[in-house]
Amino acid sequence: MLRRTKIVATLGPASSDQKVLERMILAGVDVVRMNFSHGTAKDHVAHVEKVRAAAAACGRVIGILADLQGPKIRVGKLENDKIILKQGDTFILDAEWTGLGNQERVGLDYKELPKDVSKGSVLLLNDGMLEFDVIEVKGAQVICKVVCGGVLSNNKGINRKGGGLTAPALTDKDREDIKTAALIKADYLAISFPRSADDMKLARKLMHEAGGKSLLMAKIERAEAIPVLDEIIDASDAIMVARGDLSVEVGDAVVPGLQKRMIRMARAKNKLVITATQMMESMITNPIPTRAEVSDVANAVLDGTDAVMLSAETAVGDYPIETIMSMARICVNAESEVEDISSSHRLQTKFSRIDQAIAMSALYAASHFSVKAIVALTQSGSTPLWLSRVNAGVPIFALTPIESTLSKVTLFSGVHPIAFNTTSKIPSVELCAAEDELVRLGLVQDGDMIVMTIGEAVGQAGHTNTMKVVRVGDHHKL
Ligand code: PGA
Ligand code: MN
Repeated sequence: MLRRTKIVATLGPASSDQKVLERMILAGVDVVRMNFSHGTAKDHVAHVEKVRAAAAACGRVIGILADLQGPKIRVGKLENDKIILKQGDTFILDAEWTGLGNQERVGLDYKELPKDVSKGSVLLLNDGMLEFDVIEVKGAQVICKVVCGGVLSNNKGINRKGGGLTAPALTDKDREDIKTAALIKADYLAISFPRSADDMKLARKLMHEAGGKSLLMAKIERAEAIPVLDEIIDASDAIMVARGDLSVEVGDAVVPGLQKRMIRMARAKNKLVITATQMMESMITNPIPTRAEVSDVANAVLDGTDAVMLSAETAVGDYPIETIMSMARICVNAESEVEDISSSHRLQTKFSRIDQAIAMSALYAASHFSVKAIVALTQSGSTPLWLSRVNAGVPIFALTPIESTLSKVTLFSGVHPIAFNTTSKIPSVELCAAEDELVRLGLVQDGDMIVMTIGEAVGQAGHTNTMKVVRVGDHHKL
């Protein structure tokens, strides 16, 4: 059975060797995430070459997600790399301190912090492991009382509970990194910590100026993003439920509900959605997941996510291959519990585009007539996107000669990219060739019923206007 849910794996020291990458791809990775918080532009170029070489060696299409660092607010470095803070300690976050931090104070890479907080603000460090109450702001110094102590090490992140840090979403580094994302032809560009639709619009403008054609992904990880989710999703092609920072900002208990809401909203708006962070966290050091992790991945699938993501598990973990294999297995099992609701999908909706009307007709036919697959001959990938916003219980094969479309659909739930090129401009000839290609690949067999979509103006984007139900192989009998 083909897996519907896609797996995104973050590249890192544990996964930058080409042989390891090949094993990861064979284990089930669909999209590789390049984390721009680490490494130089040169590193990213070298890594992406390795990923593409590994994909070619495996005969697979792999998508590339470039993830910008964004304004992660961090403490500076410390003497001996770390300190231990105890409950009740007084500790100063000092925007003017340029030396190494010590038991009394630490420098900040975000100089605006003293302006953004006041007495009573709660600051969470190291993904919420440490909690500080601000007791006073004196010039550049934020004087805190330690509420929850622990180890503070170099460059750990700071979040404010409830949000409200004014750092702009696109830093100078991000603006440079957008050029690198364009250079490596990233399929997806993720913006970290967007606060508004305007942040996404600015990112899109900068990306176009850099000559990039990536789809834009908003990482939802700030408290401020929640009230304006509608607008942010409208301004994006995809979102990430970025549970790491989001949990710290809005409180961990709120996140599972938000995850469901975000996935529902994204799909309803024809956008893509990744569920991310700590999905298989214990597998960083263990060869098997916890029961809770198994349930978490399965529940994200049941929520309808397009993809589940691995971060440290594949970047620095001891078991990257085992983690991917476990994740794939959990997804396939959860998918067998997902109900096919495609027959009632958007029944009350009016469509404004011919290609969308065809995509919806194909879904309806697929769910009211026993078919093995939906086959979309596509240029831009918009037909497979519409087809994939609901589970019709059958695989969707996206056949296209366009490389960038092949690598973009790697993230679409239930959609499988297939490189396909014919010289014919005659739709009926193209459809027969597509059928034969699927048989050759072993994806369908003679006698199977399939639903196919195509544009009569063969080779033009947005021109899908035809749906056909065929019995595989019958065209050879004519
Ligand atoms: P990060 O984003 O891994 O880049 O911090 C994801 C998250 O916050 O969940
Ligand atoms: Mn984050």
